[in-house]
Amino acid sequence: MIEKLYWLPAGKLSMDSSAFNKSVQKGQMISIQIWSYLLETKAGPILLDTGMPESFIHNPDYFKGTPYEGIIIPLMEPEDHIVSILKQVGYSPNDMIAVINSHLHLDHAGGNPYFPDTPIYIQEKEWEIVNKGDTSYAPPECLLPNLNYKVVEGDVEPFPGIQLLSTPGHSPGHQSVLVTTEKTGPILITVDMAYTRSNYEDKVPFFTFDSVQADQSIERIKQKMEEIQPNIIFFGHDNEQGMKQEVYPQFF
Ligand SMILES: [Zn+2]
Repeated sequence: MIEKLYWLPAGKLSMDSSAFNKSVQKGQMISIQIWSYLLETKAGPILLDTGMPESFIHNPDYFKGTPYEGIIIPLMEPEDHIVSILKQVGYSPNDMIAVINSHLHLDHAGGNPYFPDTPIYIQEKEWEIVNKGDTSYAPPECLLPNLNYKVVEGDVEPFPGIQLLSTPGHSPGHQSVLVTTEKTGPILITVDMAYTRSNYEDKVPFFTFDSVQADQSIERIKQKMEEIQPNIIFFGHDNEQGMKQEVYPQFF
């Protein structure tokens, strides 16, 4: 069982609104919250996702000249970097006993270089991409050879109260996380299995690597959650939900 789960805001990105709903016309940018999550366990603290890379700080032009130009614009301040965030909550990267990456997109694994001594849990399919050195998908920050990726396959419970659920679709090896805490009980953090509640509940199609797989993952998790009845289901980048979310020092 997890002692405490904290929501840690980790800066913002501006993204084309069609990423959240494929039927919407391109051309309108919306600003979304990036999240990390801190899990305090009896064995020590564990971090879920490491936020955006240092190279995004004060660099809205990061994607200029790439296929993402005008589609993704980083809005990152120095205090949004994972090392600063952890410092604000009283930790340094070395204190983490493990890191979990939901997937290797830039807004979820950008801080990985700061955890060279820490096992980083990812799914096999995501690991394959790192191994291939595909920088169009995984940021160079994720490809550093000294990172200690710990590869898992399917649904696993690497620590009591933390279940990694294989939810491919948004990315080839995406995983969601079911956490059970002392205070709140089961909490499903979908991460980018669904950007928003409507992606999850109403099947509104969003930005995916494989839309069929994404649908299947959502269906599978919905069925699983009928049994578990989580007290919170938190989506990857849902502004309506995110704006209301209580963050550190509030815990769940
Ligand atoms: Zn994301």
